[in-house]
Amino acid sequence: MLTKLWIDGKAAPASSGKTYEVLNPADGEVLARTAEGGLDDIDAAVRAAAAAAAGPWGRMSARARGKVLLELSRRIRERSEELALLETRNTGKPLADSREEIGLAADVFEYYAGAANKVFGETIPVGAAGLDFTLREPVGICALIVPWNYPLVIAAWKLGPALACGNTAVLKPSPETPLTALRLAELAAEAGLPDGVLNVVPGPGPGCGSALVEHPLVRKVSFTGSTATGIVVMKAAADSLKRVSLELGGKSPNIVFDDADLELAVEKSVWSVFGNAGQDCCARSRALVHRKVYDRFVADFTARTKKIVVGHPEKKGTQVGPLISNRQLERVCRYLDIGETEGAELLCGGKRPRGALSKGFYVTPAVFAGARSDMRIVQEEIFGPVVAFLPFKDEDEAVRLANDSAYGLSGSLWTRDVGRALRVSRAVQAGTLSVNSSSSVHLEAPFGGCKSSGTGRELGLKALDLYSEIKNVFISSR
Ligand code: NDP
Repeated sequence: MLTKLWIDGKAAPASSGKTYEVLNPADGEVLARTAEGGLDDIDAAVRAAAAAAAGPWGRMSARARGKVLLELSRRIRERSEELALLETRNTGKPLADSREEIGLAADVFEYYAGAANKVFGETIPVGAAGLDFTLREPVGICALIVPWNYPLVIAAWKLGPALACGNTAVLKPSPETPLTALRLAELAAEAGLPDGVLNVVPGPGPGCGSALVEHPLVRKVSFTGSTATGIVVMKAAADSLKRVSLELGGKSPNIVFDDADLELAVEKSVWSVFGNAGQDCCARSRALVHRKVYDRFVADFTARTKKIVVGHPEKKGTQVGPLISNRQLERVCRYLDIGETEGAELLCGGKRPRGALSKGFYVTPAVFAGARSDMRIVQEEIFGPVVAFLPFKDEDEAVRLANDSAYGLSGSLWTRDVGRALRVSRAVQAGTLSVNSSSSVHLEAPFGGCKSSGTGRELGLKALDLYSEIKNVFISSR
């Protein structure tokens, strides 16, 4: 297991010699000691990325770049079991979920492998005599900062389009979950990615992350994480006018109308908020239900929630594992107290399992009913397995409640009425919506948020816009 930094195609200790402990959230035990990147390491990584941009990578054809990405995708699939186990041990997510995510990361590289030679410009009929055309060029060195909830997948979302467009990158994983990102760098080197094109420097956000964002050679910052940190990142990037894309927090509504297929809606809604132990920026944590079906829906949802198997992530049958850290567990427990103090009714969950699981960072999925829109548990991103139910009386009130949030990432609506699906989809302020589905992410489609949920769209061909610069050239025929 690689526990050093990855700079210029080689594993390297931190220049300070510092290391830190990476824990397994399932039992709180030390999983690895990893090198802790600092300012000098960030500088070395950025300089390696700059040299690589001026080297063979910068001269490689788009088709050849695509072939490297395709080979990386193949190697990820070949190592999927090893990567899935590493991800599970580092994040606590059930092994089946990790397997799915590793497959998705491979799919992302495969998709952008095919996209690499389809990034091209246009010819434009301008008024002057001659030829006007655009070139799509790499932006330059990209700072890619990713969180701990989907470590490899989110890294792939950023790296796939960044590399397809010919950029070089410094990836800063969350210090809590650096292991699959480091392994990815090794696999990329084996796949033929030239030295310095991808550098991975785990380290603390303030310090390591901010040095990366502020580095004068970095031209583009792509960040996924909390809204509070996203604001800090955007301000820091502003001083040198870097391009910034942000995928931030959410408090997504799940709107259930009385004409919905309730059985389907219950089953999907449960996983839309409790999947990944609720540590999902798209978690549908505000459940808005038409009052005609509210009691029945809440009862069925609660009964289904009680059947969720919370357990050790490596045990077959486990559906929800531990939270990422004790810090996150304490945060979730604080919100459970806040919910009860605010007057919401806790119908189930919110308990720490006893016995063998007591050493890990587990909490059982919690359902609050009778919540109001002004409650903190309804307004703030908890990032854990907690849902709050609110009733509504009609479509207008559903839309008003859905939009009564600082966030605008995603959401679902459940109805059999096509007209209503269209009206409400238009009216809800979010970057990503699904109707009669809880999905947020399709790798071919744009993903991202509005309001406090960020700016820019990842995935699909739209992501190529984030990582390419348009240059206009006019050639006079006179
Ligand atoms: P952060 O947003 O603080 O961290 C995300 C990443 O940014 C980490 O790699 C972090 O490193 C880094 N970072 C922190 N400060 C800076 C900085 N000044 N410059 C550059 N990089 C920085 O999330 P946390 O991990 O602290 O989680 C806190 C809360 O954020 C969660 O409880 C959850 O509500 C929310 N969150 C939302 C996510 C989403 O996708 N919407 C993802 C993860 C968290 P470090 O860990 O060292 O601070």
